Amino acid sequence: MRKKIVAGNWKCNTTVQEGVELAKAVNELVAKADAKNVVVVLGTPFTHITSVVSAVDASLINVAAQNCAAEAKGAFTGEVSAAMVKSTGATHVILGHSERREYYGETSEILNKKVALALANGLTPIYCCGEALSIREANEQNAYVKTQLEETIFNLSAEDFSKLAIAYEPIWAIGTGVTASTAQAQEMLAYIRGLIADKFGKAVAEETSILYGGSCNAKNAPELFAQADIDGGLIGGASLKAEDFLGIITAY
Ligand code: PEP
Repeated sequence: MRKKIVAGNWKCNTTVQEGVELAKAVNELVAKADAKNVVVVLGTPFTHITSVVSAVDASLINVAAQNCAAEAKGAFTGEVSAAMVKSTGATHVILGHSERREYYGETSEILNKKVALALANGLTPIYCCGEALSIREANEQNAYVKTQLEETIFNLSAEDFSKLAIAYEPIWAIGTGVTASTAQAQEMLAYIRGLIADKFGKAVAEETSILYGGSCNAKNAPELFAQADIDGGLIGGASLKAEDFLGIITAY
């Protein structure tokens, strides 16, 4: 059965000390809650990963980077390689987030390198896709997301593809307080699963965890997560408060 995943994306928030406190608080709440069937991931800044990994129980909490370099190593000042991320104890890496595509020029070509390096280093990519508002208004979201997938992770072998998770995040819903309707989210995730089935076969499609992201919170998560194709969430703002995040983790 495919995994249910609730992944926090802290973005550029918290100091190391604040992050460790937040991670400990999430750990404590998850330990008390009945959330055994959910893979909980904290996507922290690079600087926090080692400390957060040490502060949590690895059987309850996984830690992710929010990015990794497109090169394996070498003279790339300021970059953090997939091997470095792996060496911290992180298990996942968020790749292709719309903020990285938009503000840091991440193209499909760059993302292909990052995904390949993440997989080669044993990290689970949480690969983000999703359309801007203008594309949704023109009703071209399906074609747009299809191209995003075809240019990147659909180039992988079925074996490698089956190691990653996908997060569909309509850009117009990220950090805006506007959530895609349950129907819109389910429709797109079912569409993505259909594309995966066409490309890699039904068995791979059925095993792929596809998450929804975009103003997901403890209030709307139960309805979203009840949909047949929604296997969890990638959570921004609501992952910065332990109680709010727990409310989403326990939404199943
Ligand atoms: C995100 O940036 O991945 C995200 C889903 O943010 P928010 O939950 O704040 O909309």
